[in-house]
Amino acid sequence: MTQLLRELYGINPAMLERDAAAMAAIGPQFDKIKAIRDENQLRMLRAFTQGRVAASHLAGSSGYGYGDAGRDKLEAVFAALVGAEAALLRHHFASGTHTLAVALFGLLRPGHTLLCASGTPYDTLHGVIGLKKAEGSLEDFGVRYRQLELEEDGGPNLAAIGKEAPGAQMLYLQRSRGYAARPALSLAQIEAAARAAKAANPDIIVMVDNCYGEFVEAAEPAARGADLMAGSLIKNPGGGIAPTGGYIAGKARLVEACAQRLTAPGVGSEIGCTPGDILRQLWLGLYFAPGVTAEAMKTAAYAAALFGALGCPVSPAPGGERGDIITAVTLGSAEKLRALCAAIQAHSPVDSHLSPEPWPMPGYDCEVIMAAGAFTGGSSIELSCDAPMRAPYTAYMQGGLNFAASRAAILAAAQACFG
Ligand SMILES: *Cc1c(COP(=O)(O)O)cnc(C)c1O
Repeated sequence: MTQLLRELYGINPAMLERDAAAMAAIGPQFDKIKAIRDENQLRMLRAFTQGRVAASHLAGSSGYGYGDAGRDKLEAVFAALVGAEAALLRHHFASGTHTLAVALFGLLRPGHTLLCASGTPYDTLHGVIGLKKAEGSLEDFGVRYRQLELEEDGGPNLAAIGKEAPGAQMLYLQRSRGYAARPALSLAQIEAAARAAKAANPDIIVMVDNCYGEFVEAAEPAARGADLMAGSLIKNPGGGIAPTGGYIAGKARLVEACAQRLTAPGVGSEIGCTPGDILRQLWLGLYFAPGVTAEAMKTAAYAAALFGALGCPVSPAPGGERGDIITAVTLGSAEKLRALCAAIQAHSPVDSHLSPEPWPMPGYDCEVIMAAGAFTGGSSIELSCDAPMRAPYTAYMQGGLNFAASRAAILAAAQACFG
């Protein structure tokens, strides 16, 4: 491997030494990642066999999609897998943001209060909530918003949740760090927040933005006190194969309310066809998801070890606990940030000849640079790197379908920055 890294990728001897040190340091993390992967994969196979998945369930449908048995089966298997009563898992969701918006608009009504207890939500949710002016936001529809900051230790403020929950209809928790300088929430923290909210208001709906969190632990929020969770299929649960889509899973009554919003009131989950080969891709991607997420976790552990040893502030810290597949690497300069993204792009399986440029991405308040040489446009379960072009020039690296290839790309990127 070391010889090939030198011969094929031009990695210099000093960087190869750093690679060896990083590989040695992350051994214990790899063991843990592998154990979680295997547990999730065994649960996956069990969900497929107990669900009696048949070849006919991969076939798909056209038109309205009434009685699409494969679609319904996929949703039932996913629900059983994650410990939910029901799920909507569909390619009709255009993105993670769309999926979360469907859930919020599906459940909140004028005069309701949305209580977010994980600090500032992910950038693209600002327009949905109305934190930033956007036509048709929740605020436009008279939904109020309250926000609680995370505690010093990164966990939700349980006392404040207890105080605010009686005045709110939904408690919202974002599991992943997103573009914020804070650790991901653990399942234990999510469970504690849900318990605090329910103790103060048994009717409150606990909803989790589960983007980037799927299969990182051996359970999901729906099995740990969340009433509803949602995520994107071009992140962890699509296994790098789903070409688009999202999911909402949780209490059956709530999932169906979201379906009324996804399609139309009175129609709900009954319609929505799965044309072409899409359904087979969603099945296959889901089946692969625990293994692919584990490759991304290994990549994240390696990136933290390597850039940490090079003196960059990294989060999670080398060897640290992980609740998502993201590693934040603070480079301190725009030049290094560009060099990192250029090298990641140059070592991508697709579009390696392109060079990433910062652009004003919709939903973000400054320019964003993204390296994403991916089979699926914008997929961040594939090795990718996004960074808002603002001080302290922190790159958010995530994904990696295959650790060997991701290791080469990250090592080359480290060399491009620190030669
Ligand atoms: C990716 C992400 C979203 C939004 O998903 P998009 O597919 O980019 O719209 C929301 N929340 C978190 C935490 C995310 O990581």
